[in-house]
Amino acid sequence: MSVREEFDAWAADGRDRGMEERHWHTARDVLAAMPVEDGDRVLDLGTGSGYALRALADTHELSHGVGLDGAPEMAGNARSYNQSEGAETLSVTVGEFGSLPLADDSVDHVFSMEAFYYSSDPVKTLRELRRVLVPGGTVHIAVNYYEENVHSHDWQENIDVEMTRWSGPEYREAFREAGLHVASQRNVPDRETEIPATEAFPTDNWDTREAMVERYREFGTLVTVGVAP
Ligand code: SAH
Repeated sequence: MSVREEFDAWAADGRDRGMEERHWHTARDVLAAMPVEDGDRVLDLGTGSGYALRALADTHELSHGVGLDGAPEMAGNARSYNQSEGAETLSVTVGEFGSLPLADDSVDHVFSMEAFYYSSDPVKTLRELRRVLVPGGTVHIAVNYYEENVHSHDWQENIDVEMTRWSGPEYREAFREAGLHVASQRNVPDRETEIPATEAFPTDNWDTREAMVERYREFGTLVTVGVAP
């Protein structure tokens, strides 16, 4: 199944807002750490409902924020949420991670949450990000699906788009291969997800309480930050 088919279906049945709720716990930490300044241009790669740019536009005078997504229904939803929330500096573009419809040196910072690993050629996507970034621009790739997070390993079974499961070191190596400097890498724990008491386990989705605590509190979201030379 294509990205378009898979995620248009998600957009149509409200999973765009569902993802927003789950991802916001750690995405907001990543957004807060981005060195965005007033007047900057920001790209959200795989924008989904578009919440990340709306949050940035709430706290910064962005010159422009563009949410890119390969699923037209998803992009349409994001556009309508932007409009209803009066986010005038934001736009949404339908496009592919492998060939960004953006000019060279046209973006100051890139954010991406739970989207990058759907790229059919992740190193090519990083090269594209480097191309559109200005020198000194930054890219913040946040993922919950990665090698060290053993609890994410079976996610591919529920999604028809092929996913790339890199480890932290593999992310760093790929950034460098694409010509980006690695500025930092960290795990952002998810402290908002409610972990039920031990007596409540096992639950439907978790075999043990320890596994759930490990997934959310310890592994959380892996964030790799790159800088364009
Ligand atoms: N960032 C949002 C959405 C994550 S879901 C959030 O945190 O909730 C991943 C999104 O990336 C989907 O909307 C999907 O349509 C988009 N996407 C996945 N692969 C893509 C690709 N190769 N090109 C363009 N968009 C893609």
